[in-house]
Amino acid sequence: MTAGQWLLLLLPVAAASGWYAARYTHARRRPLREPPLDRYLEGVRYLLDDQTDRALQAFIEVVEIDHETFETHLILGRLFRRRGEVDRAIRIHQNLVARPALTDAQRAHAMYEMGRDFLLAGVFDRAEVAFRELMDSPSVGIRALEGLRNVYETQRDWIQAIEVGTRLLEHGGASAALRIAHYECELAQEKLAQNRTELALEHVDRAMGLCPGLSRALLLRAQVAERSGDIPLSIELEREAVVRTPALATLVVPKLERLHLNSALPRGAVNLEDTLRSLANEQKITVASIALMRLYRRTNRLDEALTQLHRILAQRPVPTSGLLEAVRWMKILPAVHTYSSEFAAFEKALMDQLRSQPLYQCSNCGYQGRAHVWQCPSCRRWDTLRGIDLDLDQPPNQTFESF
Ligand SMILES: [Zn+2]
Repeated sequence: MTAGQWLLLLLPVAAASGWYAARYTHARRRPLREPPLDRYLEGVRYLLDDQTDRALQAFIEVVEIDHETFETHLILGRLFRRRGEVDRAIRIHQNLVARPALTDAQRAHAMYEMGRDFLLAGVFDRAEVAFRELMDSPSVGIRALEGLRNVYETQRDWIQAIEVGTRLLEHGGASAALRIAHYECELAQEKLAQNRTELALEHVDRAMGLCPGLSRALLLRAQVAERSGDIPLSIELEREAVVRTPALATLVVPKLERLHLNSALPRGAVNLEDTLRSLANEQKITVASIALMRLYRRTNRLDEALTQLHRILAQRPVPTSGLLEAVRWMKILPAVHTYSSEFAAFEKALMDQLRSQPLYQCSNCGYQGRAHVWQCPSCRRWDTLRGIDLDLDQPPNQTFESF
């Protein structure tokens, strides 16, 4: 949470505390060691400066003086949770929920916070109970449904995630349909792993119904087509997916290479060249330029490889896989034979770099990793991982004799 968000959260609380402080001062109910409001505002200032420990100390003192304050307890609970002290956060929220004098909205809020504690602690059954109880709450109902959705997503319980997602869809969440479509795709993948193709296709169709043209659904259909031996359809669907979502090119281009070259299709290499050329020239997909350059290098069409090389080197940043392909191309030029060992060392350095660097990056939170996943492990958004480089370690088993 940013300082600004904390401030927004605390504004109504500050007003309420001012009221408390004024009331206590006026009535002189009990002597105060320090006015809670001053100490409270000090806590707010520490929060704005990101000094969590000092803020925590200030808020602890406020609740020691004023045991009844609800909001300060909530802040304390959140601060403990933020520091990873989930047990203490749970205790605070449990005590709040047990207070007899709370309004319905306050009790719902405290219970929602408790659900979040349990979720963070990995106690999913208790988080589920807390969130389910709050699903119809006018104050925290939607947030409770979102919490519940997190529980099911984390446990990969896609059926329940779809049920909750559908309820959230009724509330008009912008990304709700995309999420449900991905749950359907997850189910389709499970069915494919069990070789239940028909059931898999039903889930894919539902995903398409929710998000027409969803690239992940197209790729699943391509997978089904490949399994049933319909390679031309598989190629067409893979192409459509990458044209719709160019950021998936690092995932799709190697598959296109494999489909064209490993299948018994006539003119596989020629068709691959056509496909890659259109992706490189019309869609401006760098990864397709790299694949095209590789194709030209392996078939000794050096001039055409050079055209692609210029295109790759004009990129910023230049993908390491592009540099690696460039060095491999240079290695076979007659002029550099004198320096073949230097070029071999250069190639190895780039290969090592490519093997250790991330290949995908989340467009939402910046998470980086080497494997493509549909849900970002860091921010948990769907379909945000974008290919930043091409893994050249797994070239397709191509046969160029027929080229
Ligand atoms: Zn992310």
